[in-house]
Amino acid sequence: MAKVDQIAQKIADRLGSMSEEERVHHNASQIAESERQHAHFKAAFDQGCCYICEADLTTFVETAPCLHWFLRPPGVKKRHYPAVAEKFGMMAIQSWVRWVANEDGWARNIADTTDEHHIVQVTARYGDYAWSISCGKTDFAGHTGKNSNFPHYHLQMSIKDRPFISYNDFHFRIHDDELSILKAMEATGVKSKFVNGESFDDVLATIDPQWVVDLPVDRTADPQRAAFNLQTILIADEGTTISGEAIYDMFQQAKRDGVSFASRAQTIPHSSGRTLIGEGPGVVDPAPREGGRGSNRRQG
Ligand SMILES: [Zn+2]
Ligand SMILES: [Zn+2]
Repeated sequence: MAKVDQIAQKIADRLGSMSEEERVHHNASQIAESERQHAHFKAAFDQGCCYICEADLTTFVETAPCLHWFLRPPGVKKRHYPAVAEKFGMMAIQSWVRWVANEDGWARNIADTTDEHHIVQVTARYGDYAWSISCGKTDFAGHTGKNSNFPHYHLQMSIKDRPFISYNDFHFRIHDDELSILKAMEATGVKSKFVNGESFDDVLATIDPQWVVDLPVDRTADPQRAAFNLQTILIADEGTTISGEAIYDMFQQAKRDGVSFASRAQTIPHSSGRTLIGEGPGVVDPAPREGGRGSNRRQG
């Protein structure tokens, strides 16, 4: 057995043998560590600085590869990115782009469409930047090919919708330490959690639909930035009809109160309401590879 697999086995055994109490403790300490790191990140980012190298986000020093190069400081070229990938690895890059994306509105800038064919399939955007990381099961296994017969992932980056790095530009190696953790997680069915880097898909999967329905609605804001799309269907009770006037009044009242129509649907007499929650136009589109794989976002 390869060394990576031996370590993966050990981690998997450890994860599998944890008591509920140990698991809770383990998760809590990991979350606390992520929160601590994120606080550093945010404090620096708010000042236009990088929490890792402590330089201005617009700094480029070729001999000091850094994650902040994903904001393309002047002077950085495509050929410089393998050094960043080599130094930081897939999970650190993913965590960083997720944090940056969430600086521009929570969750709606991150699409996580990882499915049974992927280890990672994530798109994050921030301002004019969009980054996608794709690691299919075949990439993870090291699909055959002269430059790709080792565990790797692909990365795509665009600026103002113009491609800067394409998925097929690089085969970035997955570091051995991440590989053993990812293998152990795959074996035990544990999923990666990104504290403060939650995606819209994470949110849809975990939120209480009522929470979305009850969100305040700012009707003066640009609807193109809306995170959720609510569709409410009113069904008249048998043998009755719904009053158009009642619907009109409900709309006006909901507008005045700054709440969703869905939250008032049950006030219409002789009817029942059913609301579908989906992604709004303000949610980032996934950037799938090879003809649509990874684009199957579920509707909540
Ligand atoms: Zn930096
Ligand atoms: Zn590949």
